[in-house]
Amino acid sequence: MIKKYLLCALAAFSILPLGAKTPERQVAIVAHRGYWACEAGGQSHNSIAALKASQDLDFWGSEFDVNMTKDGELLVFHDDAVNGKKFKDYDHAEFADVTLPNGEKIPTLDQYLTQFEQDKTCRLVFELKCHDTLARQIKAVEQSIEKLKAHGLYDPKQVIFISFDLQECLIFAEKCPGFTVQYLGSEAERNPEVLAKLGINGIDTNFWKFYSDPTWYTLARRNGMSVNVWTVDDKEHMRTMIELGVDYITTNDPELCRELLQEMGVKELKAGKNFK
Ligand code: MG
Repeated sequence: MIKKYLLCALAAFSILPLGAKTPERQVAIVAHRGYWACEAGGQSHNSIAALKASQDLDFWGSEFDVNMTKDGELLVFHDDAVNGKKFKDYDHAEFADVTLPNGEKIPTLDQYLTQFEQDKTCRLVFELKCHDTLARQIKAVEQSIEKLKAHGLYDPKQVIFISFDLQECLIFAEKCPGFTVQYLGSEAERNPEVLAKLGINGIDTNFWKFYSDPTWYTLARRNGMSVNVWTVDDKEHMRTMIELGVDYITTNDPELCRELLQEMGVKELKAGKNFK
């Protein structure tokens, strides 16, 4: 049944001018939270080592998560709290001694961007986590932009923004014209057509959504949106997503994705390159 739905989606897509199976089609591999699941990455999500491992293996991009503390410091960390302390309720100093599994401290965004500067061919897939008030959402977006500018990384060819926080996506879309902004959620009332009308130009979707509702994909394409998918770690799901026609695959196993693209004869978008 699932396969039938996906075939319908592919058939619908094949009539569109931007065909999914044109010979020039390329797929960008995004290392999820850096390439952490390897020796070089130290088995540590969002660590400097994981980012460096992504850069060293020339994956197209490296995804990372950004949370803002009570005093406005941006930290690269996935969860909204450490040891029960929420970032929104405590200043940066409270988290200064927290260590990651590989012994690194939680990186500040400044430290993370300093590592990105070492090899700018690796694109930033910048996830801003949800913040609880409009004031903090605005501040988190503005601070993110300022930091990127300070590190010479504020460039639509260098960074794409992603978030589950629709308000933050909208603020990025307004403040950063020309940049790719992808919404991470998949609520029915926020389908790609709705998002496009709001000014969002991309989706970054849980891959299961494409099985349960293949129209999600066609709606995105009909509205000219880029399509990213998370978090695809299994070879058969990767294969299905590649066949469906996604632009980006976000994965904890980027080397597996690279091997599969070679096996399928689909071009990998190289580090330092961008979609036309
Ligand atoms: Mg993330």
